[in-house]
Amino acid sequence: MSHVVVVGSGPIGSAFAKKLHDLNPSVTITMFEVGPAATKPLGRHVRTLDSDAEMVEAQQKCQGPHAGRAHDASKMHTGVVTARPGTFLVEEKPDSEMPATAMSANVGGMGAHWTCACPRFGAGEVPEFIDRAEYDSDLSEAWAMLKVTQTAFENFPMGKQLREILGAKYNVGRTPDRFVQPMPLAVEVRDDRAWWTGTDVIVSSMANSSRFEIVSETLVTEVIHDGSKATGVVVKDVKTGETREVQADAVFVAGDSIRTPQLLFKSGIRPRALGHYLNDHGQVLGLAELPDSVTDTSGNSAKRGSLSSYSGVSWIPYDRESFPVHAQIMQMDASPIPLQDLKEPRPGAYVGVGLFVPKQVTFEDSVEFSETETDFFGMPKPALHYKWNDEDNRRFAEAKVLLAEVLDTIGTPLGNGPITMPPGSSLHYLGTVRMGQSNDGTSVCDQDSKIWGFENLYVGGNGVIPTETAGNPTPTSMAFAIKAARAVNKGVSK
Ligand SMILES: Cc1cc2nc3c(=O)[nH]c(=O)nc-3n(C[C@H](O)[C@H](O)[C@H](O)COP(=O)(O)OP(=O)(O)OC[C@H]3O[C@@H](n4cnc5c(N)ncnc54)[C@H](O)[C@@H]3O)c2cc1C
Repeated sequence: MSHVVVVGSGPIGSAFAKKLHDLNPSVTITMFEVGPAATKPLGRHVRTLDSDAEMVEAQQKCQGPHAGRAHDASKMHTGVVTARPGTFLVEEKPDSEMPATAMSANVGGMGAHWTCACPRFGAGEVPEFIDRAEYDSDLSEAWAMLKVTQTAFENFPMGKQLREILGAKYNVGRTPDRFVQPMPLAVEVRDDRAWWTGTDVIVSSMANSSRFEIVSETLVTEVIHDGSKATGVVVKDVKTGETREVQADAVFVAGDSIRTPQLLFKSGIRPRALGHYLNDHGQVLGLAELPDSVTDTSGNSAKRGSLSSYSGVSWIPYDRESFPVHAQIMQMDASPIPLQDLKEPRPGAYVGVGLFVPKQVTFEDSVEFSETETDFFGMPKPALHYKWNDEDNRRFAEAKVLLAEVLDTIGTPLGNGPITMPPGSSLHYLGTVRMGQSNDGTSVCDQDSKIWGFENLYVGGNGVIPTETAGNPTPTSMAFAIKAARAVNKGVSK
């Protein structure tokens, strides 16, 4: 038997564990998670819990230093940056260069709180050195793990009409796979309700396996290694403070884009690129109303009632040449824009549009770790360095023009013009343990996510993605974790 340690219980650690477990019956896997088991079953999406009260209670357990604290929604639109429910900010200081950067600490990670949008990356978003057919196959496997569907909300009022309007303008010159379409979502509609996918769904087949264990409220403080081989980890029980060593034949670190490089830094593994090339897409938002002439022709009104609190999300895929942003078009309650001033809505007629704007990748954008100061968990304190340069500002200006065009295409723009979200709002942080083609100092790991110079130490998560991207990254990071699991499987004994 071989033993593999996974650090972090979010979607990426879970996808890796599931794939390796299924590939190799001679492997045992222990997954360590610093946060608590906030839901039953472990890793369930908070919106899939039975009541709002349960959801709020679970969210508050996941907020690390602010666990148990109520979310102050009143501040959300006052210019004060607050964390979303279930998350906490990495830097709580007014002069942060990336003030909205957040994380979660709980079994399931951010995967218990996410919006579940699962686009397939387009040309330019997938690293050129990755075999596209392999990516597409692994992405499809990730989709299957997440139960991704494009038909869950097909009956939502006016979604189809909205996509026809947008398609007439934006499908021109595209291949059908990049047409305007329903957003692929990780959700299952059954028993007349939506079951949003958390990590419980990914690991459900291992629930009764003696070869897989999730250990919560346990911080991995160090990877034990000799410079080329990891032999285990040091873990600390956060309730008792006790530490112990755990042997491992391979280690997969998936602690998110801040805490994965943090653990490597703490362990004395500090390749030049570690923490650098931090990247996330910007976001500009707007709101429009569909004209009265657009009426619901789905004929599914009887089915609507029970699902109308969840709305349809449509997608205009990123296209490097003709549409260099990713558009999420959310009907009504999924809109992040305050809607309280609007008149009584026609279901589906108020449409929030979010454009995700790729940012240039630079070495200088980075997370730096302190040698002396520690964070809430006692790990090296992170500091974020992040700037929009001239090219980024040009792209934002271009995105605002595109946003106005999309809103005009839909109907009547509402509100006071585009809202630009503060840096870090994406919740998609890339690049800090990036993948590369060779060990030339510009990357941390190879195409299998193995750290350069190591034979059995792997990294996972959005930090592995080296490219500038527009779309939501989770399924792609899962695809890379699936690829990593195949590589680990080759390395551990049968
Ligand atoms: C509100 C919201 C909406 C989102 N919407 C989308 C979306 O629609 N589509 C999309 O693609 N993405 C979305 N995301 C982002 C998505 O949730 C993340 O991309 C995804 O969860 C990343 O998975 P991960 O496993 O790498 O990290 P995480 O989910 O962050 O999990 C990492 C876990 O590791 C634990 N950990 C870290 N360090 C250690 C350590 N040293 N020891 C032990 N445990 C450790 C952490 O506590 C955490 O629980 C959203 C996120 C949020 C919060």
